[in-house]
Amino acid sequence: MAMLPPFSPGTPITTISLSSGTTQGKPKYIPFNDQLVESTMQIYRTSFAFRNREFPLEHGKALQFIYSSKQFKTPGGLTAGTATTNVFRSSQFKNTMNAIQSQICSPDEVIFGPDFHQSLYCHLLCGLIHWDQVQSVSSTFAHSIVHAFRTFEQVWEELCADIRDGVLTSRVNVPSIRTAMAKLLKPDPELADMIHKKCSGLSNWYGLIPALFPNAKYVYGIMTGSMEAYLKKLRHYAAELPLLSADYGSSEGWIGANVNPKLPPEFANYAVLPNIGYFEFIPLREKAEDVEKDKIDSTFPCMEPKPVGLTEVKVGEEYEIIVTNFAGLYRYRLGDAVKVVGFHNSTPELQFVCRRNLLLTINIDKNTEKDLQLSVEAAAKLLSDEKLEVVDYTSHVDLSTEPGHYVIFWEMNGEASEEVLKECCNCLDRSFVDAGYLGSRKVGAIGALELRVVSRGTFQMLLDHSVHAGGAVSQFKTPRCVAPANKSVLQILCDNVVKNYFSTAFG
Ligand code: AMP
Repeated sequence: MAMLPPFSPGTPITTISLSSGTTQGKPKYIPFNDQLVESTMQIYRTSFAFRNREFPLEHGKALQFIYSSKQFKTPGGLTAGTATTNVFRSSQFKNTMNAIQSQICSPDEVIFGPDFHQSLYCHLLCGLIHWDQVQSVSSTFAHSIVHAFRTFEQVWEELCADIRDGVLTSRVNVPSIRTAMAKLLKPDPELADMIHKKCSGLSNWYGLIPALFPNAKYVYGIMTGSMEAYLKKLRHYAAELPLLSADYGSSEGWIGANVNPKLPPEFANYAVLPNIGYFEFIPLREKAEDVEKDKIDSTFPCMEPKPVGLTEVKVGEEYEIIVTNFAGLYRYRLGDAVKVVGFHNSTPELQFVCRRNLLLTINIDKNTEKDLQLSVEAAAKLLSDEKLEVVDYTSHVDLSTEPGHYVIFWEMNGEASEEVLKECCNCLDRSFVDAGYLGSRKVGAIGALELRVVSRGTFQMLLDHSVHAGGAVSQFKTPRCVAPANKSVLQILCDNVVKNYFSTAFG
């Protein structure tokens, strides 16, 4: 494909991207064209330049847990697939990866395989075959990295057996994957023994990534927003290896590059690339006095403040982003809340705050996905004495009871005692410190929070469900709040509840 001049308007729409549709369960159809591929490459190259200054890579390979989704034709004849699939399938992707020293370990047949369980197994196998060349371990979102190494814990002996005999397990039955893997896999008992010894020597898999890939320089993927929930587990697997958050973007287009890769993921921010779109920012009034005024003057619906331009934003303020891009989106509200934390030259550096619509709210309470995360983290600490952890979690507002109440679904990696779970439930309830929630709980305007423990593997079912519906593992984000409209996801969760508890924290 000929190189396009950077960002020319009027480039035809060649493809449709499907957003992950995390909350409502319905993907959006978004126009996609070569300009978006070009801006993706620009953002990859930009953040790589900054990253490589601090963490230089040597010549080697990248273990990337990336997957393609199914593609189909729209009634109008355009190919539709997830944005990551559209990018991975573009001719520029491989060239850019090679240019930024990230030659991918796995062959295309694995990346584009029709069954992601088989692709994941083979990604792990390819990584192990190239163990001493692996320079970085990455995926689009951190969830896929954690998911990959959790899977490794289950299948590592099978992987060793494949390496020892040079024969791929019969569980991988896609012919194209088998043919591609046969070219890589040779009997290597020495390597199998080494991996076996390393794995047997680890305590609870701590430091698994550097143990397997001693030359890796870092772990890379989006780690902010809803991905923060996986940081603890990722740190456990990565031990001392740096965790670097990847860039900020969406199916609607990229926004900013991580130009401060040394910052820990909790503080990661993204410098807006001003030439990849036209960005406006709606100020979000979060000041206490404004909220108070809204409550008093509720007969007059508050007017949304006017958007400001890229250079008019103020440090310390929060905004919602509006995007106008080269694929035809005009003043499109992205729905993300971001905070301006500084400027890189004249372009703002944004910290991701939360999805704006991901809100637990019943009356005057307002809890964001971040509030939920903090509450779950606080409660999960009570499990650590029993050496247990929360594998994943989500929430729901249950209005079928009067008054309505919050429901937290969580999955653990083992069984906790009744006492501990009751305490976790109370802790979850107490940890939502939003004044509206506390006030409503105290006067009984919101019912007792309910903790519903789901069986092992339930969140894997949500991932499978999303993939079955045409979603991509590469873009999967566990919905942190399940809307009532997302019936199928709610059904999976409810069908797998093994225990439930109601909080007694407020009497
Ligand atoms: P998608 O539906 O796959 O297009 O998801 C795009 C959404 O993922 C964005 O609107 C954000 O909410 C989230 N996202 C993307 N990049 C980041 C990031 N670096 N940090 C936090 N959230 C992100």
